[in-house]
Amino acid sequence: MNVQDFVTFEYTKEASFQQASYRYEGDAKTGWRILREGQEHLSLPAGYELLRSIRCGVCSTDLARHHLPYPLPQITGHEVIAEDESGRTVAAEINASHHATGSALAEDCPFCRKGLPTHCPDRLTLGIDRLPGGFAPWILVPKHNVVEIPQGVDANISVLIEPFAAAVHATERIDLEGATRVAVLGAGRLGLLILAALRGKRETIGGSFSIEAIDRQEERLRVATSLGADRVWDDAEALVAGAHDPPPFDIVFESTGSPQGLEVALSLASREVHLKSTTGLASMGLSHATEMVVDEVSLGPLVEGNDSFVPLPTESQDAALVVGSRIPTEMVQGIEDAGYRTVVVRQPEDLKTVSEEVRSGEAGPFSLGLVESLESVDRLLRPWPDREQGLIQPTGSIRVADVGQDRTGLLSPMLERGVKIGTSRCGDFHRALPIMQTLLEKGIDLGAIVTETLPATELPRAFERACSPGNIKVVAVHPG
Ligand SMILES: [Zn+2]
Ligand SMILES: [Zn+2]
Repeated sequence: MNVQDFVTFEYTKEASFQQASYRYEGDAKTGWRILREGQEHLSLPAGYELLRSIRCGVCSTDLARHHLPYPLPQITGHEVIAEDESGRTVAAEINASHHATGSALAEDCPFCRKGLPTHCPDRLTLGIDRLPGGFAPWILVPKHNVVEIPQGVDANISVLIEPFAAAVHATERIDLEGATRVAVLGAGRLGLLILAALRGKRETIGGSFSIEAIDRQEERLRVATSLGADRVWDDAEALVAGAHDPPPFDIVFESTGSPQGLEVALSLASREVHLKSTTGLASMGLSHATEMVVDEVSLGPLVEGNDSFVPLPTESQDAALVVGSRIPTEMVQGIEDAGYRTVVVRQPEDLKTVSEEVRSGEAGPFSLGLVESLESVDRLLRPWPDREQGLIQPTGSIRVADVGQDRTGLLSPMLERGVKIGTSRCGDFHRALPIMQTLLEKGIDLGAIVTETLPATELPRAFERACSPGNIKVVAVHPG
């Protein structure tokens, strides 16, 4: 049995840090007990390896952690590279699912079984949800989440693998076919990685779209150019003011990390806005924008006579949930013709009954929702205050029917111009590594994003520095 004692920083509800003592006790074969201040804190099943943290990046999720719906205090940090028992440098994927730990329960889990382990309902998330993160000197990582970093990759590049994989995944979730101009709004920690991922994608699969960056700070735009942006813009407001119909960009990635960013992105996009920020804050009439990103649910319009916006069902049993008194029966029929079983709720109070059925497993989950208001979108995303789960299953879609309603908030660009909102979260490290290598070969240095490193013993200062305007990515370095 292994025993590892250490003292480390925890992040608190008050958005501050405190120190606490921890003990990990156990091994990969029998599982682990985690003690905090001598008290039972968390127990982990078999399948977790003990790793020594080397470096861990500070990300916007860490800075907004107090807005997120997971317990605090918590040892944060999820962009971590570490050393395993045999001295290899490895990265840690963050979703500790049944699949990741090699649990036999994976066969009974609807998400692990379908190859969607990042949405496993029983998952813990490294440095975000309960599982201690990489700002601690030691971490416990599911064995299938340990990914070896090829030799010769600079530590300031390999430490970016987690957010870079998320950026690559974002570019895989959108349809770049026929796009001529793609913009990234906000050339910060995440935006710059999306720019690089787009460049890597264009280098590998071809395509002639231009990659453009929008940010107020000249220094960031300089880095954007070095990472592969073809054009840069320093004035989003001027772009918005000059945006006609159709707006200048086919696709806009929103990565400002501010709730206002979505509005700007929507006025600049003719086809799709891809949302990646998890600020935990309401945006354009939508309270659960963050949860929509966490669940990777997409949102778009459904206009009568144009069902091209309805995604096709992936399985014969796929079900759609229709909520609203004004949605025409022809639209419901259209969804059924596309191959969905439908459940239709005409009165808002009846949604409660359906929710209860989903909660007890009698109904759903639904892969498609059709609604007529943003309130219903929120209710489909998070119907229960005590549970981080929606009525629409992860990677599913919600469509808003055009029933002549007021065009408030998001509804205006969506229903007037047909703009869709796509979302994405974590990516696969194995798919991101070769793209990282391609960029290196092309002389593109991702490490330019890391603007400061500080010892992990000065974590509160590292967070302060990460918020300072001149800084992009701050990385905490463990001694050793
Ligand atoms: Zn992150
Ligand atoms: Zn699972």
